[in-house]
Amino acid sequence: LTGPIVGPGWAGIAGGTPAGQSGNTYRYTTSDPMASYLATLAVGKYQKETATGPHGLPLTYWYRPGKDDAMMKVIRKSPQYLEWLEAKFGPYPFPSAGVVIVPSESAMETQQMVTMGDFKAAKASDNENLWEDVLVHEYAHHWFGDTVSPTNWNDVWLNEGWATYIEALWSNPRDKISDKVWETWARGRDAKLRKEVGPPGKPRADSFAESNVYICPALMLHQIRKQIGDQAFFDLAKAWVASNRNTVRDRAAFIAFVNTHTGKDFTQLINTWLDSPTTPK
Ligand SMILES: [Zn+2]
Repeated sequence: LTGPIVGPGWAGIAGGTPAGQSGNTYRYTTSDPMASYLATLAVGKYQKETATGPHGLPLTYWYRPGKDDAMMKVIRKSPQYLEWLEAKFGPYPFPSAGVVIVPSESAMETQQMVTMGDFKAAKASDNENLWEDVLVHEYAHHWFGDTVSPTNWNDVWLNEGWATYIEALWSNPRDKISDKVWETWARGRDAKLRKEVGPPGKPRADSFAESNVYICPALMLHQIRKQIGDQAFFDLAKAWVASNRNTVRDRAAFIAFVNTHTGKDFTQLINTWLDSPTTPK
């Protein structure tokens, strides 16, 4: 990927690995396959800041001075988030990471350069935790969604289930919320979502990427963790990423992997959580 070519004082920002700047031309390259929905491009009057993540991972943050200073306090904690993710899920699967802040109400796990909207929480005192949760979620997608992408959008639960569950694993201990309290809350949401927008396994065209593909499969992963315990669960998660790096995968591949890796038959549990019109027991 070469370019974009931008005017003086402007910066051209994209996903992939930064490959240098000459004059007003910014270059990015990648040696890993990238799904088209994970590409990003931003052009603007940005300030660049570099940092170093775990095992020397190069990080680049792009922000607008004066506008993004509060969010930058959280972005600068990226090494800490990535270190926590690596301890649980294995090495970050790309040669660089970064964040670009843009005017938007959402965020996206764009590969090697997370696109963070400059959104705010309803209460200013909640901003830092909200930004942290979203950033951990988008970084988590680099393991679950980016390096292992879904074969088609029927399996978007495979992205969002993991990222949502990992976000909860990060924020619950911080917020002193027990697994049990979280599960009760999530089951309430799950029941409502299945009723309103259907089960997560085959999203309806008119309700694509609704919260059902986030919450319901996160709860499903929680059931697997409860059955096999932490050690086996995080071994499974690590092995899934390591064995399927730079591929696309679907439900059948996930079920087969879980069954082989755990030596137990989770076919019915997974299918029920993905297809049931009501919350499974
Ligand atoms: Zn997500």
